[in-house]
Amino acid sequence: MALNRSIFQPIGYQNQTREEELRRRYLQFSRIQEPLDKFLYLNSMVEEDPKFFSEFAKLHVSEVLPIVYTPTIGAACQNFSIIMNKFRGIFVSEHTIDILEETLKKMPEVEVIVVTDGERILGLGDLGVGGMGISMGKTLLYSLFGGIDIKKTLPIVLDVGTNNHDYLNSSHYVGVKKPRLKGAEYEAFVDRFVKIVKKTLPHVLLQWEDFAKDNARHLLKKYENEIKSFNDDIQGTAGVTMACLISAVKEKGSRLENERILFFGAGSANLGIAELILEYHESNGVSKKEALAHIAMADSKGLITKSRGELSSDLAPFAKDLTQTKDLMEMIRSFKPTVLIGASMQSGIFNEEVIKEITNLAKRPIIMALSNPTSKAECTLKEAIEFSDGHAIFASGSPFAPVTYKGKIYHGTQANNLYVFPAMGLMASKCAIKKITSKLFLELAIALSEAREENHLLPPFQKLGALVPKLAELLVHKAKDQRLI
Ligand code: NAD
Repeated sequence: MALNRSIFQPIGYQNQTREEELRRRYLQFSRIQEPLDKFLYLNSMVEEDPKFFSEFAKLHVSEVLPIVYTPTIGAACQNFSIIMNKFRGIFVSEHTIDILEETLKKMPEVEVIVVTDGERILGLGDLGVGGMGISMGKTLLYSLFGGIDIKKTLPIVLDVGTNNHDYLNSSHYVGVKKPRLKGAEYEAFVDRFVKIVKKTLPHVLLQWEDFAKDNARHLLKKYENEIKSFNDDIQGTAGVTMACLISAVKEKGSRLENERILFFGAGSANLGIAELILEYHESNGVSKKEALAHIAMADSKGLITKSRGELSSDLAPFAKDLTQTKDLMEMIRSFKPTVLIGASMQSGIFNEEVIKEITNLAKRPIIMALSNPTSKAECTLKEAIEFSDGHAIFASGSPFAPVTYKGKIYHGTQANNLYVFPAMGLMASKCAIKKITSKLFLELAIALSEAREENHLLPPFQKLGALVPKLAELLVHKAKDQRLI
């Protein structure tokens, strides 16, 4: 069978078998030096024949993944207006929202929408319509790991303007060159968008992606009962980190209720994790008061304490009766954590002194340095292992190669959201679920932990493709148990 070639196929071009074509295209892909050029090459392959792309990507997943996902996707988003011409996906702005309904009506096959407003793309800030790269990347991953046909996925950017001055002043920027909509105008715009999606594609799953923290949490709550939806930065992160935590406490022969957790950073990622831990405790009969007593949080202003004054309703429950401080060592000495979870983008903040202190307190400390990219990680695997004299159980947002210390090999775990969102999306696309609850993320975390292999916190990444359909099936059963279907 030959690949569907475009009208540009040269005269006399001989048809090849699928295998020959796959090999030929891999040769082309391998010859390309620049990651961004590889991104463009893969994008045109998706444009040409999504099915062929899926086959190609599955064969070369370790090479394709860093191109369509982090790290290259970040550069693709930053340069989106300059490098992109044809791509799958739509920009919805105040100028185009009037034709959204008509547009979506022509796409009844769409099952999953990944939508961003481009305000907080990875750790790169406001990239406006460049956020399309992230939405595109995530939809490709739904296809690669969730087995959802690419044509049934749709990347969308809500083009509500940008506050990125470089883009506002650039003649290349292809989005709306106005400051972002905010307040009531923003709310009304998103509301109109959700209503149109719900009306035209009532079965669709809406994945919120890379919104700034306050909008992310607000929109998730506002629409969770309105439309089948979830936020990967909040709930996906919570699911995979929870899986790592459950495995880690088992590995050290402890229980989560015996651990004292200090969250360094109190944004979308860490708040989502903390809230899922509360859910875990509740399902295990631990009172909320007791669960909260075991969790402390710090943000850029320091430890979240009762004396700090005005706290948002998200943070207030975590406030402690401790001395206000911005110094991590002081936080550790006063709260005495056994688990340290960093999502603060403060590179190297989990230093030798910090790791030695927590090792004294915990014997086997659980250390998670979730900040991305690698250069932002709170510590490396090597530092966690060396400074804890081999006692730390370590997970991170970015991958770290195994390290050898005193003759023993130590593996870290990459707490990658890929363990969560394709399974959740596949489940949601296959059934008429009314609402995606945090309990489902907890069930997924427990299942992931159970599927791990010895000395690891998560199942091997290579087995993820085969695992996702099973996880999705399990989630369908759990959703039925929760009367969500
Ligand atoms: P966010 O912007 O919502 O939150 C960042 C938090 O860090 C804020 O609470 C901020 O106050 C705090 N902070 C900033 N400077 C600080 C300082 N000096 N001391 C203490 N806290 C400080 O961002 P987010 O979405 O929560 O993401 C945070 C990081 O986690 C990013 O690097 C992101 O890439 C990473 N992340 C990893 C995963 C994963 O591992 N699966 C998933 C999501 C996010």
